Amino acid sequence: MSAIDDLPPLRQVIADHSLSARKSLGQNFLLDLNLTAKIARQAGDLSGTDVLEIGPGPGGLTRGLLSEGARKVLAIEKDTRCLPALEEIAARYPGQLQIIEGDALDVDPLAHLTPPIRVAANLPYNVGTELLVRWLTPPIWPPFWQSLTLMFQREVAERIVAAPGSKAYGRLAVLAQWRCDARIAMSLPPEAFTPPPKVSSAVVHLSALPAPKFEADPDVLSRVVAMAFNQRRKMLRAALKGLGADIEDRLQAAGIKPTERAEQVPIEAFCALARAVAAR
Ligand code: SAM
Repeated sequence: MSAIDDLPPLRQVIADHSLSARKSLGQNFLLDLNLTAKIARQAGDLSGTDVLEIGPGPGGLTRGLLSEGARKVLAIEKDTRCLPALEEIAARYPGQLQIIEGDALDVDPLAHLTPPIRVAANLPYNVGTELLVRWLTPPIWPPFWQSLTLMFQREVAERIVAAPGSKAYGRLAVLAQWRCDARIAMSLPPEAFTPPPKVSSAVVHLSALPAPKFEADPDVLSRVVAMAFNQRRKMLRAALKGLGADIEDRLQAAGIKPTERAEQVPIEAFCALARAVAAR
């Protein structure tokens, strides 16, 4: 019997449904149910909460989320081979697991979920960053989700939580930390996965703040930060010259030296710059 429910162990599920991992779908499965329950616990108190899971695969994390008390899990999976295994979990938790076959980039999860909502996933690496950026840049804030608990390659996780002045600091750090608390909650070696990926992984936990830490127009901030880090080795007055001839004045109005590089600029100063640019 497995550690968290009376369904078969995941190695048996994989064998029963011939779920050999496909690289093209970013399939590195977690087969230790103690570990998937531990990841589910990083998502916080799930009672009375709907959870969006992208890429449930054979369902290890899905089982963790349900056994940890999620009110409902909406699981979006692109690989049709996984659906029978997921249906077995749905039968064990009647009315609590909704499975959608499809590409997570094309599905509107809000049509199926009721707040409060948390997101938890061992993301496929090929769409992970794109989904994160979408979740971090919704049309309105606070977003539809209370928290994101997401597995990434360690290097991506470090970019999300990076501090100014560090090599990993960039657009992802600003977009993530501007209006969320972000931290690395767990580190996982390659051997935790089947098959093992080439690099280590980490679970990042982001909780949405009710309001941004510093005021800024989200579109202007996104544009400024994308431009600044696109040419991160250049001085800001050169990297940002596309924002207008008066960019030096705007930088100075925001308290940023025009000769500084993006890597040195704290999030608060980027927000001040976005305000200075928008006020023009
Ligand atoms: N959650 C499972 C686990 O932890 O063992 C599987 C994680 S595996 C890293 C990523 C999963 O995402 C795979 O099941 C894969 O088929 C699925 N996937 C890949 N691209 C997807 C997409 N665009 N939309 C939805 N699911 C996708």
